[in-house]
Amino acid sequence: MKYIIVTGGVLSGLGKGITTSSIGLLLKNCGVKVTAIKIDPYLNCDAGTMNPYQHGEVFVLDDGSEVDLDLGNYERFLDISLTCEHNITTGKVYKVVIEKERRGDYLGNTVQIIPHITNEIRERIQTVAKDSGAQVTLVEMGGTVGDIESMPFLEAVRQLHALIGHKNVIFVHTTLVPVMGVVGEQKTKPTQHSVKVLMGLGIHPDIIVCRSDEPLVKSTKDKISLFCDIPTEAIISAYDVRNVYQVPLLLDSQGLTTYLIKRLGLHRSKPDLTKWRRFVNRANNRKKHIKIALIGKYTGLKDSYISHIKALDHSGTELGTFVDIEWLESEDLEKLPYRSVSNKLKDVNGVLIPGGFGKRGSKGKMQAIRFARENKVPFLGVCFGFQLAVIEFCQKVMNISDAHSSELFPKTKHPVVTLLPEQNEITDMGGTMRLGIYPVNIDKNSPIFKIYKQQRIYERHRHRYEVNPEYIEKIKKYGLLFPGRSPDDRRMEIAYLKSHPFFIASQFHPEFKSHPMAPAPLYCHFVKAAIENKKNASQKE
Ligand code: GLN
Repeated sequence: MKYIIVTGGVLSGLGKGITTSSIGLLLKNCGVKVTAIKIDPYLNCDAGTMNPYQHGEVFVLDDGSEVDLDLGNYERFLDISLTCEHNITTGKVYKVVIEKERRGDYLGNTVQIIPHITNEIRERIQTVAKDSGAQVTLVEMGGTVGDIESMPFLEAVRQLHALIGHKNVIFVHTTLVPVMGVVGEQKTKPTQHSVKVLMGLGIHPDIIVCRSDEPLVKSTKDKISLFCDIPTEAIISAYDVRNVYQVPLLLDSQGLTTYLIKRLGLHRSKPDLTKWRRFVNRANNRKKHIKIALIGKYTGLKDSYISHIKALDHSGTELGTFVDIEWLESEDLEKLPYRSVSNKLKDVNGVLIPGGFGKRGSKGKMQAIRFARENKVPFLGVCFGFQLAVIEFCQKVMNISDAHSSELFPKTKHPVVTLLPEQNEITDMGGTMRLGIYPVNIDKNSPIFKIYKQQRIYERHRHRYEVNPEYIEKIKKYGLLFPGRSPDDRRMEIAYLKSHPFFIASQFHPEFKSHPMAPAPLYCHFVKAAIENKKNASQKE
């Protein structure tokens, strides 16, 4: 069992996740079985209770765990399906250690960060590695070295290295090499300092991945090599590229895979990147552009919608088009009269309403849904977007003016979207929604069957509310159908509007299962409809 530990220095947001995923992809294409773990040194037990503005999107796994968005990167790059054990947080570790202490498991000992917390961390990493059956486990350390909160985790991986040996653990450190002023010299001091911090903690990095605008020049590599005591061949230049999917190719072209194989004694030859390279070329050589409006509540931080961005991009790559996203903040839309909202949306080829919570901005989202519905613009609604589409339909088509969700208006006379029965008694917020993978049955003669080509699909969920069964028959009579339902027919999972080129919404989140070479079917058909919309619009002009 081998481990690759990825740390970050200088500042956050360096693309550690992409580095980790890329390394995994390279080894996978050498025929090595890999898996990945993300360590988040915060006290929350999971990402589920966090505002997306703090950490970006909450990613949902098959098993229903709500995790850091980096696990989405791992799943997409490595084509694997992970479990909650692959996201270790300080909260999870302390909770277990404190529970053990209360049970008396420590037999009268003083319970301390070293060794009890560090042992718990190390054992968790090793258990995940063992259970996954992977030959190589990638461990990405959240945060930046030097942060107080990541200390126990770094100490735990230092101990892991000491325990299982140098041949089995490799440390990859990602840093930033900025260029200062008019001279344009690449500055190595931040890298030197962060390596020094790491060494002070007893960890000597084996490989340094340097982020920079332009490729590192030889003198920069030489300097880092000398000051950080690392051979130049292990200093990798991860300069800015057009497309993140190019990163594995960039790293491989500098000999990173060969170095890893040798250092870990993996006895493998070069990775076969033919398929990946073809995919990257297809992504870079797209000729067309379409414009999709994404109306959200956290558009100031694009990472809040990362899986939607990826799912649109996977679909666009498949269909040979760039998908340009027009970001619209729902709260801004809601201040405008419907006429101005229509005006803002008149040039888009599709409208996407992603998941969300709460009243703020919901009216703005419904104005955009109305625009898409009335003007036959392709529409895709996801989770909250699905619920709002149903509400908008009840209000404007069925004339139930106070139709609403009891999430937004608990006292409404017409709760067309209401709490799931099992949610009534729940008071805790963390991990208590309807979460994870559930089967959905698709009507064989519906247009949705043509999209999925299957009668039974499995998709990931994250919601507390659903379409109120009391209103379903009436809604259907007016033309909004539900051709996708839970196997017991109680829960509405897909809405589909008749006499519209593409008006589809799902209670589940198809974006979480979209992979680069296997785009989520609903997104793919949405993008296809948007391409069609653009074609028709240009013919009219
Ligand atoms: N707020 C809605 C619910 O809890 C939708 C959730 C979501 O979009 N993920 O059901």
